[in-house]
Amino acid sequence: MMKIAPSECPVCHTKHDGASDEFGKTEHPPLPGDATMCCDCGSFSVFEADLIRRTPTAAEQAALNADARVRLSRVAFAIWKKQQQHH
Ligand SMILES: [Zn+2]
Repeated sequence: MMKIAPSECPVCHTKHDGASDEFGKTEHPPLPGDATMCCDCGSFSVFEADLIRRTPTAAEQAALNADARVRLSRVAFAIWKKQQQHH
């Protein structure tokens, strides 16, 4: 996890100040155009300049939906969220 400037999820409006890749590592801060998954609501958003996040365009959403890593991340998030409810 890498500390980044706080940015707000455009869907649930939770603020986050950390980012990592899908394996929990980070080589560099997110770049404009990088997609990210909110660890609170599980929705995907896209970084703009200054690490502001926006909802994906229809074309970006279609590309995300077709990406196996995104589909796996959604499944992993759903399982993790369910486990959180039982603690
Ligand atoms: Zn969110």
